[in-house]
Amino acid sequence: MKFPNIGDIATTSVISIDINSTFNETMNKMLDNEHRNIIVIDTNDFYIMSIIDVLNVQAKHIDVNTALCDLHLSKIPVISKDKNILNTLEFLNNSTEYIAVVNDDNSFYGLVTHTDITSNIDPDTLMDNYRLQDFLKLGRRMKWVNRDEKISHLLKDMVNNFYDNVVVVEDLKPIGIFTTKDIMRLVKNKTDLDVNIEQHMSFPVDSIHKNSSVREALSFIKDRHYKRVIVVDDDGLLSGIITQKELISLTFSKWAILMKEYQDELSEINLMLQNKNIEYENIASTDALTGLYNRHKFTQLYLSSYTSMVQRHNDMSLILLDIDYFKKVNDVYGHNAGDKTLVQVSHTLLKILRNVDVVCRWGGEEFLIMLPTADLEHAISIAEKLRKAIEDLCIDIVGQVTASFGVSQVREGEDMQDVIDRADKALYLAKDSGRNCVKFEADI
Ligand code: GH3
Ligand code: MG
Ligand code: MG
Repeated sequence: MKFPNIGDIATTSVISIDINSTFNETMNKMLDNEHRNIIVIDTNDFYIMSIIDVLNVQAKHIDVNTALCDLHLSKIPVISKDKNILNTLEFLNNSTEYIAVVNDDNSFYGLVTHTDITSNIDPDTLMDNYRLQDFLKLGRRMKWVNRDEKISHLLKDMVNNFYDNVVVVEDLKPIGIFTTKDIMRLVKNKTDLDVNIEQHMSFPVDSIHKNSSVREALSFIKDRHYKRVIVVDDDGLLSGIITQKELISLTFSKWAILMKEYQDELSEINLMLQNKNIEYENIASTDALTGLYNRHKFTQLYLSSYTSMVQRHNDMSLILLDIDYFKKVNDVYGHNAGDKTLVQVSHTLLKILRNVDVVCRWGGEEFLIMLPTADLEHAISIAEKLRKAIEDLCIDIVGQVTASFGVSQVREGEDMQDVIDRADKALYLAKDSGRNCVKFEADI
């Protein structure tokens, strides 16, 4: 088995579109094909647009006819489909999970993800795919001597330099090996050490080609009950010597390094996803124009506040307000000025209210406010403060606007809609009473 090429693990069922297409065309293509991602091609550059980007664009009210080249999409790295996945590990440092895979002529072939790459690497595949020469490159010290080396001289060197074996060569080809086992024998037999090493070396030696895989070397060692193996090149010249223990531990430590890199990458991706989730949650819970909570989020917050109101026997009230004659603002000063009015009114509400109060854009120019812990009387005084603050605002281009207010207090056991209905009735009473005033449920 070989490490797969990128082309073998890439997903080819990917849809793509030219960068000069519009956002609308792109979105339709994604929806028609039910694909969550689409590759955007700009000659030799590739970008990715995801369904999340689609939501982002929609949330920002960007014109659907905008061309993709104006949308600041994320560019993704590119890799040739013939590359071995081991050559791609550096790509894992990139923050985009996707990598574009290309044919020889740089045309788009498919996509791979970081997960695709790392899930194709394990210790077993490393054993099959790491070559002995990869380990020898790690620069382990190897000792070799010529056949006429004197044993007495060699022993001194072995003691001084802490090595326990030496390869004996002739014209750089291994012809024997001399290890601590041979030394034991010599010492035991009180052999004369002032002789050439070839007289006491173990020979012949088996060697293995440096292109062999770690797995082949391990079974070579096992079959022969060796502890180490001599590695040679194409010409049979000595390349190195490597032990069984080294082969196993190096393979696993290499794997551990890869996995650690992957872990780091994974935690980065996790963090990024968490941040994105917060971003998307914000998009899903706020109104794009004013940044206030939307109906959906308000309802969620209402329900949890209602529960704690009941548990703690607290009070809670709602204020519903609606800008007066807002249609006129749009008609006279234009829709943009209308939008700015909504934003300025929102800021005023937020400035006056406390952090625990919840402000929501309930509809076009209608705002709903929840005041946890406020009874009706307190809520009316807050509504009056808000009414005055809006009246005192000097809005760009538009000048003065006013708003009408309806206030109601939450009763135990009733639905949210019931309290809102009472605030709504009070609000319409305020409109009927000439606008720019606060009415409450007892008035109804
Ligand atoms: P009233 O005093 O009775 O409330 O009169 P009004 O004109 O405010 O009430 P109406 O409900 O008839 O008009 C509300 C207008 O608000 C109509 C709609 O076009 C406008 N509107 C709703 N949402 C937005 C928005 O996001 N931006 C702008 N500029 N206008 C909006
Ligand atoms: Mg209005
Ligand atoms: Mg209205």
